[in-house]
Amino acid sequence: MNDCLFCKISNGEISGDIVYESDSVLAFNDINPQAPTHVLVIPRKHIATLNDLKSEDRELVGEMHMVAQQIAGEHNLSESGYRTVFNCNDAAGQTVFHIHLHLLGGRNLDWPPG
Ligand code: AMP
Ligand code: ZN
Repeated sequence: MNDCLFCKISNGEISGDIVYESDSVLAFNDINPQAPTHVLVIPRKHIATLNDLKSEDRELVGEMHMVAQQIAGEHNLSESGYRTVFNCNDAAGQTVFHIHLHLLGGRNLDWPPG
């Protein structure tokens, strides 16, 4: 039994505003965008947090970043800039326990983040 929200978006049980999909990776618009571009890139495989990555996931995590790079380009963000973020566990504000790479852009992003 898998009650994971992002697994459900990946298998179509719950609809998502999908912008990219492959056999291993899915990307969709964040439901509560924090910037003009706010896309989440997820693996189809359920991995709860960054702590749970295994060495066999190296290629998958690399692919997630290549997808973020591609979507940033499609949004004309490559030159102006964008941010990619993984939040891990409570102190970082992780609320969905299926890893997701946030792609944020289209405005100036403060550093350090809050
Ligand atoms: P995090 O706080 O890093 O775990 O990020 C979880 C993100 O998932 C937040 O930015 C939420 O707005 C987003 N989110 C939650 N539910 C959905 C959904 N059904 N579709 C798209 N994004 C979602
Ligand atoms: Zn999941």
